[in-house]
Amino acid sequence: MTVISSPLPTRDIDRVRPFATLTVDHEAIMHNVCLVRAIAGVPVLAVVKADGFGLGMTAVARSALRGGAVALGVATVDEALRLRAAGISARILAWLADAQCDLDAAIRLGVELGCSTGPLLETIVARARTLGLTARVHLELDTGLSRGGADRADWAGLCRSAAAHEHFGALRVVGVWSHLARANEAHPLATAGAIETLTEAAVTAASAGLTPEVVHLASSGAALAHPGARFSLVRCGQALFGVQPVDGEQYDLRPVLRLTSRVVQLRRVPAGTAVSYGGGYRTEAETTLALVPIGYADGIPRLAGDRAEVLLRGRRCRVVGRVSMDQLVVDAGPVDSEVADGDEVVVIGDPARGEPGLGEWAQWAHTIPQEIMTGIGSRVERRHLGAARVA
Ligand SMILES: *Cc1c(COP(=O)(O)O)cnc(C)c1O
Repeated sequence: MTVISSPLPTRDIDRVRPFATLTVDHEAIMHNVCLVRAIAGVPVLAVVKADGFGLGMTAVARSALRGGAVALGVATVDEALRLRAAGISARILAWLADAQCDLDAAIRLGVELGCSTGPLLETIVARARTLGLTARVHLELDTGLSRGGADRADWAGLCRSAAAHEHFGALRVVGVWSHLARANEAHPLATAGAIETLTEAAVTAASAGLTPEVVHLASSGAALAHPGARFSLVRCGQALFGVQPVDGEQYDLRPVLRLTSRVVQLRRVPAGTAVSYGGGYRTEAETTLALVPIGYADGIPRLAGDRAEVLLRGRRCRVVGRVSMDQLVVDAGPVDSEVADGDEVVVIGDPARGEPGLGEWAQWAHTIPQEIMTGIGSRVERRHLGAARVA
């Protein structure tokens, strides 16, 4: 049998380029970690869930650690195991554990587990006992999000049973924590109730005999704007990836991602030409239409059609008509005397340089920047600039 080692012929990279490229600036990630660490004044746990917000989980995890993060946070145990499989030995917290995920692997590999119910605590302890190991757990309290977290009424009981298990060695409660519902609001009242509730819960945990190493509440917005929410650790995702996390505030965070494509076809059309599916958009005057090979399958929100802009030859040009699965059409009128096939199109870039930013895309699509980031499709090639070289 013949084994074909590489399914693709080697590409001539000077000539052959992917239709769309997502460039991740790792220097910017490191800068952002440093900035958040400096403002918050407490250690930073870098949240790299959802494939590192779509940017590539292990690569961004390494840069966050290089930038000074002391731990990593993910939603699922599977994500934590993938980080371990990539050789990352840093502290990892996975907060969406349940009885059906691979708790044994998590415990064996020292992955710390979020836990907010008695039954899950019992399961974790039982698995640790069977393995002859100590499970490291962060007990989660609900402080108003009504998502994960124990009810306040159940907190003291949960702490007492955890303390009893600690006594026998299969459990160590390393953290007590909660997650904020309104970390994006600058007003102190947005987090005051949760801060008070978690403070009391930490006292309750201590009275039960628990000695957690960390108490944590703040995600990016609170890490930057709510001093009382910082406790001993902040869990940051969006800010590390350059998203401004507090409404109405601008911090010196650098954009991390850049999404580019190129012009694959140009056509001159008269006024009144219907463009794209449905024909709902018609050109107002004679113009040049540029075809760009990126669409909603690549994460360009369909909702942003007729509203969004891209940068072409240094100028803003509007996306006209509906965004389709693989392509969109841009009115290159503003630049039509200069534009050429193959020109770079900046879809998402640095607003400080006049390029459309993630924040603008979020507005065009009536969503938040994180939904745009995590939606960038797998067909888009990832390029990592300034990433650590690892075997
Ligand atoms: C996603 C998430 C974070 C990070 O939030 P950002 O606003 O992106 O900083 C922190 N903690 C938990 C529990 C999360 O789910």
